[in-house]
Amino acid sequence: MKTINIELEMEDLKRKIKDVFKGEVRFGEFMSLHTTLKIGGPVDVMVFPESVVALKELLLLTKREHIQSFVLGGGSNLLVGDRGIRGMAISLRSFRNVELLKDTGNGEVMLSVEAGIPLGSLINYTRRYGYSGIEPLAGIPGTFGGAVCCNAGSFGTEIKDVISSVVTMDGEGRIRVFNIQEMDFSYRSSNLPDDHIILSASIVLRRDDPEAVKMRIKEFLHKKAMTQPLSEPSAGCVFKNPEGDTAGRLIDEAGCKGMRVGDIEVSRMHANYFINRGNGTCRDFIRLMAQVRERVRRLSGVVLEPEIRIIGEI
Ligand SMILES: Cc1cc2nc3c(=O)[nH]c(=O)nc-3n(C[C@H](O)[C@H](O)[C@H](O)COP(=O)(O)OP(=O)(O)OC[C@H]3O[C@@H](n4cnc5c(N)ncnc54)[C@H](O)[C@@H]3O)c2cc1C
Repeated sequence: MKTINIELEMEDLKRKIKDVFKGEVRFGEFMSLHTTLKIGGPVDVMVFPESVVALKELLLLTKREHIQSFVLGGGSNLLVGDRGIRGMAISLRSFRNVELLKDTGNGEVMLSVEAGIPLGSLINYTRRYGYSGIEPLAGIPGTFGGAVCCNAGSFGTEIKDVISSVVTMDGEGRIRVFNIQEMDFSYRSSNLPDDHIILSASIVLRRDDPEAVKMRIKEFLHKKAMTQPLSEPSAGCVFKNPEGDTAGRLIDEAGCKGMRVGDIEVSRMHANYFINRGNGTCRDFIRLMAQVRERVRRLSGVVLEPEIRIIGEI
């Protein structure tokens, strides 16, 4: 009986979405296709709005129908449950414009960057035009919106260092502009209210010789590739660095490199990366997290906090 009810609910949901939204919709799409870890069961609905108007209509529908929703960026900081996600995943992959807003004349430029552009494409853009400021972020996967939401950072630079303001849409479809103080960025997080979606942000960069920007990007990419297992399926750093130390060092010291649960393994290259060796599951990942956390706690007294975001039904 339960199955029939769920099927009826799904049919109802499909009809309601198709009534208001004419863009691309996928039902029961496996999240493993959209996460760098290659883990995650099906999400009820995945939508790909192509305009702010379409996004607003979708958000109003989710509010009206009490459908849970979340924004999917590049899925590079996500651990998604094996049983998937009830509700709607919204992809902003069509929002990928970069616009020069202002050239101050004193060597600074202000760009407006839409949330769905891959961070790597933005880095390429800055290399082409010789805009300096985010070279250390080269090699971080995912989208610009995800980087803003998670305040992504590398080699001492965080995305917040170049942000001037952030444009969002709230659950009622209203546009709001947050200045940098209101965003209240901290280590790997921001003060973005839960029901706000980042549409774009303006960033301030310095003009420089494109060749010099290119060289720095190359150096940072090289450094990252030498220390992190970039070519293997992971979600980046699993745990946040505790004050004054690094999670990778503590995990290594606790002898966890190479530890494995099912197909999830603590990387031998960088202990704070867990690799999916093939058929890894969310459950295995969480069990490995618990084991590593406990070993570190016993050895050093430090309780590690997750950096990755865990969503969906485990
Ligand atoms: C190999 C590898 C290396 C990495 N190296 C680094 C590193 O050096 N430094 C670092 O900080 N991180 C690193 N990461 C982690 C990850 O790439 C970053 O956190 C990245 O910024 C996440 O962006 P995303 O688009 O993939 O977000 P997702 O993983 O898709 O989502 C992450 C969170 O952001 C939210 N979100 C995404 N877009 C929006 C939006 N438009 N509006 C509101 N919320 C949004 C999502 O709902 C979710 O809560 C690495 C990951 C991998 C796999």
